Amino acid sequence: MPVPIIAANWKMTTTIKEAKALAGSIRSRLEKLKGIQILVFPPFPAIESVLSILSKSRIAIGAQNMYFSDRGPYTGEVSPEMVVELCKYVILGHSERRLLLNESDQEVALKIQAASKYKIKPILCIGETFQQKESDQAKQVIERQLYAGTEYLENPTDLMVAYEPIWAIGTGVAATPEEAQLNMEYIRACLEKRYGAESGRKIPLLYGGSVTKENVSRFIYQKDIDGTLIGQASVNPDSFVNIVTQAAKLV
Ligand code: PEP
Repeated sequence: MPVPIIAANWKMTTTIKEAKALAGSIRSRLEKLKGIQILVFPPFPAIESVLSILSKSRIAIGAQNMYFSDRGPYTGEVSPEMVVELCKYVILGHSERRLLLNESDQEVALKIQAASKYKIKPILCIGETFQQKESDQAKQVIERQLYAGTEYLENPTDLMVAYEPIWAIGTGVAATPEEAQLNMEYIRACLEKRYGAESGRKIPLLYGGSVTKENVSRFIYQKDIDGTLIGQASVNPDSFVNIVTQAAKLV
């Protein structure tokens, strides 16, 4: 089994001081753990401080978003050129941005293209709403988001895709591992169609949505699930350390 990836999306939930404390706690408790790849995504203002706390550790850092233009009059935005000075990963197209901030498939596509230009590894987030799932449209929605988001991405070497059903995010109601596997097998098939079997097979797929220490192993055990993206449980050091420890036992 390949080394599972555990990505922590801290969202807009930590001040710089809290992010530093969280990073310090995670580092001291997970430093010696092998057989796992850990990525943390602090809020922008905390990235530099977290970087210094995690420097020379095996925990990598990323940004939760970025704009697609190199630079210019875009007040409040952060460009790929600025992100890459700090870190090598970025979450793009998270459902909270799509739903609350009206981020479109086209914007996500341009951001994925910009990430590729700057050699930043993107996690492209896709997933259906509860209504779409109930009306049997989940596959249609994730296929559309996947192809739209990768429209300008020629080479998928650095791409990761997170399947995050919106109804499972922050609700405490995770998809069943079998249900997630069915949709992620479909994502894999779409990626193989888009990039060829060999390249498509290598793209890491993460499941996100109410992952806990109790269910993480059952997700990672699935054939097309290479890791998880964790929100709420990632900002509590005990929950996060427990999840990571469980996942590392599978290797
Ligand atoms: C997320 O927002 O990406 C997420 C997976 O959240 P949670 O783990 O809280 O469901």
